[in-house]
Amino acid sequence: MQRFTFLLRSRIATPSLAVRISRSRRFSILSDISEVRRLRKSHLLSGETVGLVPTLGALHEGHLSLIRQAARENKKVFVTIYLNPLQFAATEDFRAYPKTWDEDIAKLRHLQADLLAPSHSGETPYGSIAAVFAPSTETLYPTLPPSSDPDADGTFVTVSPLDRFLEGGSRPTFFRGVATVCTKLFNIVTPDRVYFGQKDVQQSVIIKRLVKDLCIGTEVIIGPTQRDSDGLALSSRNVYLGARRRKVALSLRRGLKAAEELYSRGETSAERLVGCAMSVMREENGRQRRLDPTQAARFVVDYVRLSNVNTLEDEYDANIREGSILSAAIKVLPLDHGCTADGESLGVGNDAGEVRLIDNVILPPRSQSTRSGRADLG
Ligand code: AMP
Repeated sequence: MQRFTFLLRSRIATPSLAVRISRSRRFSILSDISEVRRLRKSHLLSGETVGLVPTLGALHEGHLSLIRQAARENKKVFVTIYLNPLQFAATEDFRAYPKTWDEDIAKLRHLQADLLAPSHSGETPYGSIAAVFAPSTETLYPTLPPSSDPDADGTFVTVSPLDRFLEGGSRPTFFRGVATVCTKLFNIVTPDRVYFGQKDVQQSVIIKRLVKDLCIGTEVIIGPTQRDSDGLALSSRNVYLGARRRKVALSLRRGLKAAEELYSRGETSAERLVGCAMSVMREENGRQRRLDPTQAARFVVDYVRLSNVNTLEDEYDANIREGSILSAAIKVLPLDHGCTADGESLGVGNDAGEVRLIDNVILPPRSQSTRSGRADLG
């Protein structure tokens, strides 16, 4: 068993008050399931609600915004940091995935200070981080080591056919890994609410289905996608993009926004909405082809799809009653290494590896979009 407790320094002079405040600023770092259960039980007994935010670590504002939301809606927040091998195929970047433990904990300590700071109205916000759960692989997979081989033995959760669509096309066991680890985390923490980001829209739909089908007593809350100022959705993988590749990657967002705009002007045909996003991305690739190789970057579009918000099945027309998901994935190709300039701003790994990026927009129900002035059937 391993348990550390971080204490944020308090500048308050009155000793009794300082002690009271510093105690409430602690969050535990737990690696043992029984410790998590003990803490969770204490919250249950004191009637405190618990929100869970599962992450792979390498925390950024996308993760922190989910934690903030969880702290607005629950008294206690559990954050899990676990890089789950089961969701990485043999060909994928498990080893290379950024691991930033010290920075992650520092970010959570800052966030905790924010969460506990009195707001302008003088009131302390509702909840705070109770614990970071960072288990070992032996803890989460006690019987057999996790294997993403489709034929591997083990106890798995699969959510089909949703796991075969979209990302599942090129990552066949990815969602088996996600669903299995999330089920374990839900069983361990038994949260009142779990928080996922809309950025990984297929994951959020799959988790909703999993919770429903396995009768898990938690509410699934989806937080909005957080973006950098240039519009790129925040992702732990963005560090691999140098300035040149990042610029072309932005056409993913531009394409989806153009299709969203077309939908808001009344277009519902999947063919035309998908075509609109594709043409923005094709244009960008065309522009890159005409550039000198020392300035160009290229990408491949994996898919652009219009999907049902609950089943993820393809839609031929946007569903104007329930809304639809327009999602896309691109693979940004490595830079040609003979063609990088001295002093060029390169990403981690010198832009030598392929980077897969996903993004999406939700096309809202027509009545809603009309109300918000974003679409007009006119
Ligand atoms: P990950 O560590 O990549 O598995 O992400 C953990 C959680 O953060 C998932 O629910 C993601 O959907 C969510 N997330 C990742 N990036 C973003 C983002 N840019 N905005 C909002 N949520 C995000």
